[in-house]
Amino acid sequence: MNCLFCKIVNGEINSDIVYQDDKVLAFRDVNPQAPTHILIIPKTHISTLNDLEESNASLMGLLPITAQKLAKELGFADDGYRVVMNCNNHGGQTVFHIHLHLLGGRQMAWPPG
Ligand code: AMP
Repeated sequence: MNCLFCKIVNGEINSDIVYQDDKVLAFRDVNPQAPTHILIIPKTHISTLNDLEESNASLMGLLPITAQKLAKELGFADDGYRVVMNCNNHGGQTVFHIHLHLLGGRQMAWPPG
């Protein structure tokens, strides 16, 4: 499968990995939008939020759990942070392997752009 994030999972493309276990990988975004910008992905390929099934619930639950662990480890959990999942064109999704953005280290604005 010609998927950029699958290639990162498989080690075919280098990334700045901050956490991984058998199900989840977290690595730094190459184009950070905050002082800390980490992408958290399931190691198995799921293209978009629209492709989720009930059977993915426990796997997907690991993404925000990983986000809050990293936020605590990196020291910005109490100040706060943002997690984002973009879906398809209107959501601004550009890589079609589902991922949770973890953004921290600055004041976020609302509404998002
Ligand atoms: P999205 O627009 O929600 O699909 O987010 C995709 C993200 O992947 C963007 O923030 C990109 O900067 C990031 N990205 C693209 N290629 C890489 C890469 N090789 N390593 C790390 N992050 C990447």
